[in-house]
Amino acid sequence: MIGILALQGCVEPHAIHLRALGAEIRYVRTRDDLENLHGLILPGGESTTMLKLLHQFGLWEALPPLAEKIPFWGICAGAILMARTVENPQQPSLNILDIAVKRNAYGRQLESFQGAVEVDGNEEAAVFIRAPKFLRWGPEVQVAGFIGEEAVFLKSGRHMVTAFHPELTESGWCHRRFLAL
Ligand code: GLN
Repeated sequence: MIGILALQGCVEPHAIHLRALGAEIRYVRTRDDLENLHGLILPGGESTTMLKLLHQFGLWEALPPLAEKIPFWGICAGAILMARTVENPQQPSLNILDIAVKRNAYGRQLESFQGAVEVDGNEEAAVFIRAPKFLRWGPEVQVAGFIGEEAVFLKSGRHMVTAFHPELTESGWCHRRFLAL
């Protein structure tokens, strides 16, 4: 059972990809929804809004201990929430992954783009929407995907983060990777 945090943002396309790969999904809005999950997706959206809603829905404190047990995948705003430090501007985060991120690092909405991410020698289509950049990461973090010189897909232990939205493209390559974790 894979949970998809469903407070705000780009939720439904993850369900479509995961179901197509044979996984069961649950939309997560309460603490009870976190029971018996095997993985959790923190979707893209607006991290400041999600911050507020995570507190309102009583989920904020529950997530770091859960991340000690099951894989988390943060997409864009979800990656910002999982980071150790956030810039542009600074804001609180869950400190699940030893990474520093800069929000909206490619510019404004007009600078959103579709590009090809290089992953293990393959090119995968990816959508960047007001995406963050990963500025720094700790020794336990591996770079799993690039666009140009930029690291846009990071992994550490059971967790992964993507600066882009693979759920908005047809291929299920990234969801398959998460299920493998
Ligand atoms: N710009 C958003 C933020 O800072 C993230 C955008 C996204 O998730 N596509 O939270």
